Amino acid sequence: MVERLRRQLVVRQNRPVDVDQWPTDDTLGWNKDGAKGELSKVIGQMAFVQHRLMAEAQQSLLVVLQGRDASGKDGLVRHVMTGMNSAGVRVVNFKVPAGVEKQHDYLWRCHQACPARGEVGVWNRSHYEDILVPRVKGLVPEEVWRRRYRHVRDFEQMLADEGTRILKFYLHVSHDVQRLRLQKRIDNPESSWKHDPSDLSDRELWPAYAEAYAELLRETSRPHAPWYVIPADNKWVRDLAVAKIVLDELRDMNPQLPKPEKSLKGIKVQ
Ligand code: AMP
Ligand code: MG
Repeated sequence: MVERLRRQLVVRQNRPVDVDQWPTDDTLGWNKDGAKGELSKVIGQMAFVQHRLMAEAQQSLLVVLQGRDASGKDGLVRHVMTGMNSAGVRVVNFKVPAGVEKQHDYLWRCHQACPARGEVGVWNRSHYEDILVPRVKGLVPEEVWRRRYRHVRDFEQMLADEGTRILKFYLHVSHDVQRLRLQKRIDNPESSWKHDPSDLSDRELWPAYAEAYAELLRETSRPHAPWYVIPADNKWVRDLAVAKIVLDELRDMNPQLPKPEKSLKGIKVQ
């Protein structure tokens, strides 16, 4: 079942992807009540395998979250990723590079944010911003952002070769749903602090971002670091789809509890 889900949502290497043609409101054959029950089960199972990943301390999992403003990256972290033991989960939010980050190449801060052995890393935005934003806003010449496809493919290949599994999720919302969510955020005193004027200026650049995402997903989806396009108009679909894929990957990693050095048989604690 999960295999079918993964096949349905994965971006195939080098095939044309027109993101705006992919459905944002697909329910993937699920219903809301059933999906909520299923999600808590899946989160429990994720926590179980993650415990073994931490104990084994050999492999890492990196989960990259990309998507437009209000596509639900924060919500996903809150509802799904925090179900695991937070001692072994490292959530990193990537903002506009500042201070020392600007004194280095763009992958510098990313490499430092990579999960250690035994950890799950969750990136809320990522090195992909360094391709999207400069492209859409015309901050650097095309040859500069374009060669970054190659850099990130090689960077991710290196991480994979050295023991990190990588899953990348593009949370796909419609133009209308983004409008509703941004408006709600502004109108609600509990969330209005989150409003950022750049959310509105980026919204005006919707078609340019669509084009940039389409090419980026195609250029950087690889078997060792695949992109999944997640229908994200419904939060419950988004959460369950990502949780199922993460659980499947963790299980495939098959982490083993370390064996005690000597037999514990006969040891009595006094
Ligand atoms: P948020 O919407 O709270 O995630 O805000 C983060 C903002 O930082 C977004 O507008 C991103 O586009 C922006 N951002 C993150 N990383 C980069 C980057 N490497 N270059 C330019 N802008 C970035
Ligand atoms: Mg924002």
